[in-house]
Amino acid sequence: MFSWFRSSRRKKLLAEPFPAPWLEVLQQNVGHFALLPTELQQRMRDATRILVAERTFVGASGLMVTDEMKVTVAAQAALLILGGHDYYFDRMSEIYLYPRRVKAALTTYQHRLHSGLGFVDEDAINLGEAWHDRRVRLSWPDVLRGGRDPHDGINLVLHEFAHHLDGLDGDMGGLPPQETRAKQDRWEQVIDQEYDRHLADLEAGRETLLDPYGAENEAEFFAVATECFYEQGRELRQEHPELYAILRDFYHVEPAEWHARSA
Ligand SMILES: [Zn+2]
Repeated sequence: MFSWFRSSRRKKLLAEPFPAPWLEVLQQNVGHFALLPTELQQRMRDATRILVAERTFVGASGLMVTDEMKVTVAAQAALLILGGHDYYFDRMSEIYLYPRRVKAALTTYQHRLHSGLGFVDEDAINLGEAWHDRRVRLSWPDVLRGGRDPHDGINLVLHEFAHHLDGLDGDMGGLPPQETRAKQDRWEQVIDQEYDRHLADLEAGRETLLDPYGAENEAEFFAVATECFYEQGRELRQEHPELYAILRDFYHVEPAEWHARSA
């Protein structure tokens, strides 16, 4: 689509008042909303409207997609673009939503979430994640659980949408596209060093702030670091200041301050 057309359509959309039932969804299902400073709440509402209008949501395995579901997914995805990025996941194709207990289509990460609930399917685990697939598959109960608790470091939408950003340069390896060469060099240096530290901590049996699942590879490490950044920003800034700094410079937001405000 021509960008002038798209931007005039977005302007028109944002000129309308934000739907009252959607605001209720943000308040009930998206724990981050209450933590954000006023201007970022506004930005979250705007980005949510654009994402709901422009992205395609598909109910799978009999799930009927409702506005509540779209808004809950979109607002969590919006966290990743709050810092003023003009990218509304335009290169993502469909967002598939699954009801509980549909296993075959979920990623390894989602299986890990499910395993705590007692349904793991060994064959499906071995399918691994579809790195180059532009579709995103989410289980609605996990979307909701992740959205309602903004402090536990576990957020499925942040995780899967971070993978999408990581893959924008055609390679999903824990290095999302960077604005400058210097930033890229810095990113690579810090991610390598922090990933090694994570492996060493796990090997030594030390408790880690970052989810142990990040040890899978650097792509998973980036996705779990993103979850931690948005949900446990203060702890991340304290325990992994360099990792926090590259994520802050990438997402252009300061979640450690949001959590400090609420403490
Ligand atoms: Zn993952």
